[in-house]
Amino acid sequence: MTAVQEERGTDDLKELAERAGRDLEDASALEILQWAAETFGKRFCVTSSMEDAVVAHLASRALPGVDVVFLDTGYHFPETIGTRDAVEAVMDVNVITLTPRRTVAEQDAQYGPKLHDRDPDLCCKLRKVRPLEEGLENYLAWATGLRRDESPTRANTPVVGWDEKRQKVKISPIARWSQEDVDAYVAEHGVLTNPLLMDGYASVGCAPCTRRVLEGEDARAGRWAGRSKTECGLHG
Ligand code: SF4
Repeated sequence: MTAVQEERGTDDLKELAERAGRDLEDASALEILQWAAETFGKRFCVTSSMEDAVVAHLASRALPGVDVVFLDTGYHFPETIGTRDAVEAVMDVNVITLTPRRTVAEQDAQYGPKLHDRDPDLCCKLRKVRPLEEGLENYLAWATGLRRDESPTRANTPVVGWDEKRQKVKISPIARWSQEDVDAYVAEHGVLTNPLLMDGYASVGCAPCTRRVLEGEDARAGRWAGRSKTECGLHG
């Protein structure tokens, strides 16, 4: 990161994000990440749910050794932890695992068991939103794998935007991609994917809050199924 960016204030960063969102709307995912790498250097990271390693792979091409932040909620499928370990072992990235302040057992002792069934918003706040907020503190920009076609709530995702809640630049380099684009990139580059994607899951989150999708459902229909909740609070 250059001294110029080091000196940027919040207003400058916000303006930079909004301008980049317009300028890079038609750029490729790799070009968007190259812009992020040149602009923010080591103060840029990728977050990954370890559903697949597509954005981590793209980012490692733009910035070898890039930080890949993974939230270990304590409720993940073993396949997700295995994907995280494989990414760490074979890719040119630096995996950083964030954990909540309390273990699942400590949370159960304080709030009672299965908080995810009784108050999923609070559970997500304690196990996802807060740890990510703390983990992103030293970065100016973070990249996600959000795509516009995943659900109506993500239809307007900018490729680069301003994360008002965290006061950071938020980059969604594959926002314009379809599932076919993801599949083609995975096949072309041999990118690691979560084995659950081959087992009926279209979107992989915590085990208690994720089910397989049915034919015709959108990719995120298996998340918090039967509830009005559609997002964990990381992206809204
Ligand atoms: S997805 Fe479910 S288990 Fe995971 S943090 Fe949110 S409510 Fe808790």
